[in-house]
Amino acid sequence: MRLYEYMAKNMLADYGIPIPKSRVVTSVDEAVETADDFGVPVVLKAQVLSGGRGKAGGIQFAETPRIAGENAQTLLASEIGGHRVETLLVEERLDIDREWYLGIIIDTASKSPVVMASAQGGVEIETVPDRNIFRATIDTKWGLFRYQMRALTTDMGISGVAARQVQTIAIALYRLFRREDALMAEINPLALCGDEVVAADARLTLDDDSRFRHRDWPDTEAFGEIGARIAELGLSYVPLAGDVAVLANGAGATMATMDALAHFGADPMNFLDVGGGADREKMGEALRLLASTDPKVILINVFGGITRCDELAQMVVDAKASGVLEAPLVIRLSGTNEDEGRDILEAAGLNAFNHLDQAARRAAELVGEGGADDNSSG
Ligand code: GDP
Ligand code: MN
Repeated sequence: MRLYEYMAKNMLADYGIPIPKSRVVTSVDEAVETADDFGVPVVLKAQVLSGGRGKAGGIQFAETPRIAGENAQTLLASEIGGHRVETLLVEERLDIDREWYLGIIIDTASKSPVVMASAQGGVEIETVPDRNIFRATIDTKWGLFRYQMRALTTDMGISGVAARQVQTIAIALYRLFRREDALMAEINPLALCGDEVVAADARLTLDDDSRFRHRDWPDTEAFGEIGARIAELGLSYVPLAGDVAVLANGAGATMATMDALAHFGADPMNFLDVGGGADREKMGEALRLLASTDPKVILINVFGGITRCDELAQMVVDAKASGVLEAPLVIRLSGTNEDEGRDILEAAGLNAFNHLDQAARRAAELVGEGGADDNSSG
């Protein structure tokens, strides 16, 4: 589960990491009122999960409450990475002198959490040359030692009080990482403002499998109705930023579907893994929810096993008949009762591909054509 920035920052604050003064708003009036209350220049930040938000216009600076209102108006009417902006974080604007990167990820090679730090902050870490990224491997038995962080802050060229603050923040971030069962924790930029070090942006991904021991985690409710309902159905759903809604069964098939799409130059907008053995009703509801996210194309890739192809086909035909599937459908069926499934689809004027690469290629073509419907989708 990836948290929205405001949730991630609340969690950082719980662990003693300094964050800017801020308020979450969902309307223009609230944005104006907040800017007025704060009485200083503010930043409005679209709360969306896709990366590159700043570049997409999701960060707006406002000197006055009136401008904050105008910005809020624009942001709340916009889409970023295919998702409508519904929530804004209004923050007092920081006077940033330097921007650093600080993150903790799990390194699968050493099977350990690793701190990553760079003096090149505020840009995506993937674009930073490796020689400018400094790392410290954490032994989970002992935790992150200050001497490890001292070495990193020295490598980053930070000294004095700021260095000690960065070290303390990293140690707090690791405490959070462990206690909250995070998979990824990132502060980018970690900002030096005068003599204060502040988390200006934050990203946190928590391990869904640990939810049972974290009653205080933010509610999935906050991920919108779709995420909440899909979680209730016991299926896994991940919102992304592309054009194609993906429904597949099984984690492996889902990943393969996304890879195939990427190979043909299309990006998934979200994916839904209906798992092995989801029944027809559950899958039908999941498909309708997926369709309601307004994708350009829906790609269904099901390998019939416990879930039989004929059942899947009937589910798709029913959903199509109910009129909720507006985007063109591309279907790939293979496995148990494949021929029966194909017959059911054909009787309803739908086609299914045999191979994933054919289906992914077709989906990518349809995205290129702006999602215009055609024969292969009925
Ligand atoms: P992202 O694009 O989603 O990573 O959004 P960020 O919250 O990281 O903001 C992007 C960039 O905007 C930062 O790296 C900063 O350069 C700038 N920025 C964000 N908030 C502030 C702020 O309060 N003051 C100043 N001066 N710059 C900011
Ligand atoms: Mn950022």
